[in-house]
Amino acid sequence: MRIVTVYPDLLGTYGDAGNGIILERRMSRRGLDVEHVGVDSHGTLPRADLYVLGGGEDGPQGLAAERLGNDATFQLAVAEGALVFAVCAGYQILTRSFVVMDGTSRPGLGLIPAETIRSEAARAVGELVVSVEGIAGIEGVVLSGFENHGSRTQLDANVTALGKVMAGIGNGTEGCEGAVYERCIGTYLHGPALARNPELADWLLVQAGAGSLAPLDDSRSLDLREERITWALSGKANGREGSAHSR
Ligand code: GLN
Repeated sequence: MRIVTVYPDLLGTYGDAGNGIILERRMSRRGLDVEHVGVDSHGTLPRADLYVLGGGEDGPQGLAAERLGNDATFQLAVAEGALVFAVCAGYQILTRSFVVMDGTSRPGLGLIPAETIRSEAARAVGELVVSVEGIAGIEGVVLSGFENHGSRTQLDANVTALGKVMAGIGNGTEGCEGAVYERCIGTYLHGPALARNPELADWLLVQAGAGSLAPLDDSRSLDLREERITWALSGKANGREGSAHSR
């Protein structure tokens, strides 16, 4: 399996490049064949089974969308069924349009039928807890991460959300978070999300063609997740809106 972390130079602000590393390790610890490369934005993306996009500020996000839109190999690989896992700015890039710092709208790739808008609401900053609903294989898993975004995402009626928000903002519309549409998965969860949520990592690997996966000892990740979820749901996670400057 080939995993490509897309443009860590532009979409690396929130540590999401860790997601690619986690996916690679979960394969290699099981003795399965895997190759993982990070490709900066001045390069051409190679074919991959799984592309991983991270979060970033508005400026680099706009540039990443432009470059991805012009990358013929990426477009072809996605059209032929490559899986895409995208976090925050990466997720917004997959929607039809997103908003940058001056409030103007930029075209996204339109791979997820959804609109990303900037509302009057304060920036969403803090822990995010999500209960997965309607996604076979990870149904009922409670995911943990942190979020830091100014925009909100409105899914079209034919798109399934990743889950329901138990704490935090997520998409900021209809109490839901993330999107699963065809071969694209988007989420506002940083963490990195796949370090905190091993079930999500393995589910992505299976979707990307890894076959059945032997269990791993995930006790340390699961302990951290439990601690984070307990804290986020305890009501102590206040002051969560507003003050972070990174866009
Ligand atoms: N710049 C985008 C926003 O603020 C995405 C931020 C991020 O990737 N965390 O909405």
